[in-house]
Amino acid sequence: MAKAKGHVVIRGNECKGCELCVHACPTNVLSLSKSLNQMGYHPAVYKGEGCIGCGFCFYTCPELGTITVFKKWDDVKEIANCPVCKSEQKVFQSPKHPKVDICTKCLNEIK
Ligand code: SF4
Ligand code: SF4
Repeated sequence: MAKAKGHVVIRGNECKGCELCVHACPTNVLSLSKSLNQMGYHPAVYKGEGCIGCGFCFYTCPELGTITVFKKWDDVKEIANCPVCKSEQKVFQSPKHPKVDICTKCLNEIK
């Protein structure tokens, strides 16, 4: 499989399970989880590979802030231990705020 050009993070507990993003995704890498979230919906989940960073899911989602798309995922090289979610993750530097690093798992800032 070709290297992923994008990466997507979905805040599962904010998702209403409407499935719009699942149908909008041209590479079919999103699906609804069999599990329920805190609100009783089946949230959308990323299969973990194959995202091309097109952003269709982001623009389709009616729940603002639920989907975050990282473009140029191959270019994200730095790995750090996130102090919030405690996992070792890629660190994305925000283009708008170049001094702010973001954990690509929990989306919290890493200082
Ligand atoms: S950014 Fe595009 S390819 Fe990636 S999950 Fe969203 S719709 Fe699918
Ligand atoms: S479009 Fe948004 S609310 Fe609907 S399933 Fe996808 S992430 Fe959830």
